[in-house]
Amino acid sequence: MVLLVMKFGGTSVADVDHIRNVARHVKREVDAGNQCAVVVSAMAGQTNQLIEWTREAARLHDTREYDSVVASGEQVTSGLLAIILQDMGISSRSWLGWQVPIKTDSAHGSARIQEIPNSQFVDRVRGGEVGVVAGFQGISEENRITTFGRGGSDTSAVALAAALNADRCDIYTDVDGVYTSDPRIVQKAQRLDRISYEEMLEMASLGAKVLQTRSVEMAMVHNVRIQVRSSFENPEELEPATEGTWTGSGTLVCDEDEIVEKQIVSGIAYTKDEAKVTLLKVADKPGVAASVFGPLADASINVDMIVQNVSDDGNYTDLTFTVMSNDLDKTIKVIEAARSEIGYSDVKGSTDVVKVSIIGVGMRSHAGVAAKMFQALAEKGINIQAITTSEIKVSILIDSAYTELAVRTLHSLYDLDAE
Ligand code: ASP
Ligand code: MG
Repeated sequence: MVLLVMKFGGTSVADVDHIRNVARHVKREVDAGNQCAVVVSAMAGQTNQLIEWTREAARLHDTREYDSVVASGEQVTSGLLAIILQDMGISSRSWLGWQVPIKTDSAHGSARIQEIPNSQFVDRVRGGEVGVVAGFQGISEENRITTFGRGGSDTSAVALAAALNADRCDIYTDVDGVYTSDPRIVQKAQRLDRISYEEMLEMASLGAKVLQTRSVEMAMVHNVRIQVRSSFENPEELEPATEGTWTGSGTLVCDEDEIVEKQIVSGIAYTKDEAKVTLLKVADKPGVAASVFGPLADASINVDMIVQNVSDDGNYTDLTFTVMSNDLDKTIKVIEAARSEIGYSDVKGSTDVVKVSIIGVGMRSHAGVAAKMFQALAEKGINIQAITTSEIKVSILIDSAYTELAVRTLHSLYDLDAE
């Protein structure tokens, strides 16, 4: 017997028929004698609708009320799943975040989980009742409903798995695992059997939308193994979980030590969420970078990539950096306001850029990975506008018109193409 957390995303609970299908996955595990906590998202599209309504009500609004509204989508699906399970003769009940309770801080809209104390919820799940938990939500010290940011049900699932000391955390979604790249643009992308937490973290924060970044951070800290798998496979054809084994379906997100064959590069990610800002003719003297990035930090704008060109004459240089595209207007305003302190001739913003990243833990022990990347892109005539690296990734900024070409080129370059 194992203790399982099973999480189902919005497309898996899109309507009552889909929820019935989810119930069959749960039944398979219950029939095998497993204990289950199930986390559900809101029906696909529902959270967007709820957010739209809060904006329609008032553009600027109390974020505590925003949370109260947007958390309601998960209330519906958790109740419906409990009803269907009961109808199948399975003992179950629904739990809202505050009932579990999932205790959080008060950062409404992106609250962080602080504690899931031992409680009736834990006892009942251990006693064999299926606990259906509304994802994405918790309760603050001020006794208000909080939510965890978009995609936050993944984090609910991992936190519950840690609190219950679950044997597995299965994240059911509409794809059958984590791929080497986005299958929509790379036809030869392959499903990975295993991926390390660190690689998954980079993939998630660099554009792969399978798991919320925060859930991966939490899994890494608490050593929760996550199996990403599809809810659209026939529920009765999958093997129920048994102790110490992992079903072949999907991708296991786990510790690096559990991955025997380490690739140099495991995946290619891309994100169009970044915008480029260039300051022309900035004085080449000490303190300039501080005068640019200080005010941006004060305005809570995150800067990602930075490139400072060498000046020809030793007096002036151009400075280029990237921010999230939805911060672009604010960034230009902040830079313009600081114009007299910084001193520059012009500021330009553009959104027609894409950040492409290669990710792999094997990079740590291999030289020349970046050089090979730059060479391959140069051969295709792709100009690199900015670069950042970490121990396990290299990211480049290029013209967005070359997204497909760059991603496909790199996918082949690092031998990731399916046969
Ligand atoms: N329903 C929430 C959202 O759409 C949370 C989730 O699906 O994980 O962001
Ligand atoms: Mg999701």
